[in-house]
Amino acid sequence: MGELSGKVVVITGASRGIGRAIATRFAREGARLGLIARDQAALAETLVTTGDATVCSAIADVSDARAVHAAIAQLRASLGPVDILVNNAGIVVRDDVLAMSEAEWLQVHAVNTHGPFWLVRACGADLRERRGRVINIASIAGEFGTAKLAAYCSSKHAVIGFTRALAKEWADARVMVVAICPGSVDTDMLKIGMPHGKPDMTPDDIAEVALFLASRAPYAMTGGCVDVHG
Ligand code: NAP
Repeated sequence: MGELSGKVVVITGASRGIGRAIATRFAREGARLGLIARDQAALAETLVTTGDATVCSAIADVSDARAVHAAIAQLRASLGPVDILVNNAGIVVRDDVLAMSEAEWLQVHAVNTHGPFWLVRACGADLRERRGRVINIASIAGEFGTAKLAAYCSSKHAVIGFTRALAKEWADARVMVVAICPGSVDTDMLKIGMPHGKPDMTPDDIAEVALFLASRAPYAMTGGCVDVHG
């Protein structure tokens, strides 16, 4: 019996990087996975890493509320109600505040901040009924400021605020809502966000923390932000 045996887990941004590592790790613990991303071919590569676990995938842009609701309906029809939601999908834009286009600013917030909101609403009834868990992948950028990353930093500060508020709001249903705040992780995003930065961790390190929060972590941690800086 794995630590997540039989649990239905939805993971966004599962087509590479941290999301793929979480999917792979959770599959080994017996989770029934619903994976969401935009790139079908890359998502298919993730499926190869999940062995004989029960896995379904849906193509959706998390910034599109309708697409998110359709994806969750599709996954739910195959897997059943959602026990755990991992809001991992994210993008970064590296530019000066004065140089960044309006579209870039809006897109970063649409994906990083609004995406988790749409997912939480789409899975909310299940999560509340099943005393589920929400794990939001925020960032160290949600706790500090970094030059040229204003859109990303502000979107991740918002994710932490959302985590804290939702934890309070859903305390009545004992839904545990937490955030992980990683430092530098060796993924495609790091190369864009911090081109001269050296990774301190692998995606597997974050997956291990996510597993703890999805399984053994006590409800008392709700509303918390777990720093993982390597
Ligand atoms: P990554 O390798 O670039 O992967 C990002 C994932 O998000 C991909 O699977 C991508 O899939 C998905 N995604 C992006 N936009 C999407 C959209 N509109 N709709 C659906 N899926 C979308 O990045 P990563 O480093 O693994 O990042 C994962 C999370 O960790 C992000 O929230 C990021 O902010 C956070 N984080 C990363 C670091 C780091 O150092 N890498 C540090 C702190 C926090 P598709 O392109 O297929 O849609």
